[in-house]
Amino acid sequence: MLNEQYSFFHNVERSFDKAAEFTKWDKGLLEQIKACNSVYRMRFPVKMDDGRIEVIEAYRVQHSQHKSPCKGGIRFSEAVDQDEVMALASLMTYKCAIVNVPFGGAKGGIKINPRNYSTYELEKITRRYTSELVKKNFIGPGIDVPAPDYGTGEREMAWIVDTYASLKPGEIDAAGCVTGKPVSQGGVRGRKEATGLGVFYGVREVCNMAGRMKKLGLTPGVKGKKVVVQGLGNVGYHSAKFFREHGSIVIAIAEYEGAIYNANGLNEEEVFQHRKATGSILNFPGATNIEKSTDALELECDILIPAALENVINGSNADRIKAKIIGEAANGPLTPEADVILNKKSTLIVPDMYLNAGGVTVSYFEWLKNLSHVRYGRLEKRFTENMNSHILTQMESLTGKTVSDAERKFIMHGAEEVDLVHSGLEETMITATQEIIAIWDKNPEIPDMRTAAYVCAINKVATSYNELGIFP
Ligand code: NAD
Repeated sequence: MLNEQYSFFHNVERSFDKAAEFTKWDKGLLEQIKACNSVYRMRFPVKMDDGRIEVIEAYRVQHSQHKSPCKGGIRFSEAVDQDEVMALASLMTYKCAIVNVPFGGAKGGIKINPRNYSTYELEKITRRYTSELVKKNFIGPGIDVPAPDYGTGEREMAWIVDTYASLKPGEIDAAGCVTGKPVSQGGVRGRKEATGLGVFYGVREVCNMAGRMKKLGLTPGVKGKKVVVQGLGNVGYHSAKFFREHGSIVIAIAEYEGAIYNANGLNEEEVFQHRKATGSILNFPGATNIEKSTDALELECDILIPAALENVINGSNADRIKAKIIGEAANGPLTPEADVILNKKSTLIVPDMYLNAGGVTVSYFEWLKNLSHVRYGRLEKRFTENMNSHILTQMESLTGKTVSDAERKFIMHGAEEVDLVHSGLEETMITATQEIIAIWDKNPEIPDMRTAAYVCAINKVATSYNELGIFP
């Protein structure tokens, strides 16, 4: 149900309207872009392990079909409602447009806390949800392609593709009905870390802009920058990993049970293993406990990465946020009130709608792989290596010098699937960041990067509708 007091969807609409003022598109066309095209709200019974029957509430929203298929993750969370799924579906439309992924936007949600269910119960819920989608023609490689989101991962995607394929025998492209699958089930190497890596590439690109950094009183580059990460799930873990590997210092990590701080830096893998072993992030060796998890958001740092859920930075805590840059890894972590307060403080907010597009970008690569039925790099890897070896041997004989074995191995290397996926992602995130910043630089009236990102998205979606000839 739409919550009239607070609506995530209305917040997205407000941001859209603010940006639309900087465009010249017809009002009716803008209304069409904003609207959610289809909302499927379902209820279905599932028998639990103890014999009880539970009625499950779930959603799939297709925000836009200006490109097919439409695409977006499936979330398992108690906070799922129609408003949230509509908001997330619309963000998917804008996200795909910005990163030039030719999909419309969609999103799914099941209103459950996955921690309260056994694996077998979760499998039954996921499979039943999938068959409901099949029944209403809400899933398929050319229709609507789900992916993981909060509370779901490879395992759930494997259940979905298996259910879909068994209901659609003989469909040659069935593997393309969902992305984020395990590699053995048609997944692509590099998908798991894609969103966190995309967050890193996007923030790094902003940090490499000397002019922008000067305005914030920071030096260019990510090296040495102090980073705070909220949420040690898929996105938070990988964001922390790539910042640390590129020389940033992850001084704090927050989970829902509390946060930990170490000025010398934390290693996300060690923290993850500690949490797995003890059931809590707290009491990590060498770190200080922060009992109230949200206090970590208010720490002195250069970059804050909220990678858990929406609305965590809002009217009540925004003025205490000290980070110079906020990289919105989660969807909607800042409310519009927080935006206003932080923009006044000149905090640079790198917006969710493109910053966390790494997942959908690599999902696009996975979908292409599924449709082409061939692993990336399979055809050219060996050819490249043979050619590189040949060139190297020629150069050695011409110069009379030889390179070390390690150098030879490096130069010869032909791209594997994961290399190509990471490279495609890096290119996508750099281009998107530059496009958004160029729009912002060109029009100084645009108040913030989020608005510039929306302008970028609106222009691309509107152009696409126009080219369809629906709005002559
Ligand atoms: P996840 O379930 O893997 O991880 C979320 C983590 O946040 C969990 O470890 C959870 O315990 C923690 N958390 C929950 N509430 C918290 C709180 N109040 N304080 C601190 N930590 C808290 O989910 P994910 O896939 O990493 O998604 C995180 C966010 O990123 C979501 O907003 C999601 O929509 C967005 N996102 C995810 C992807 C993706 O590819 N997975 C892509 C785009 C956007």
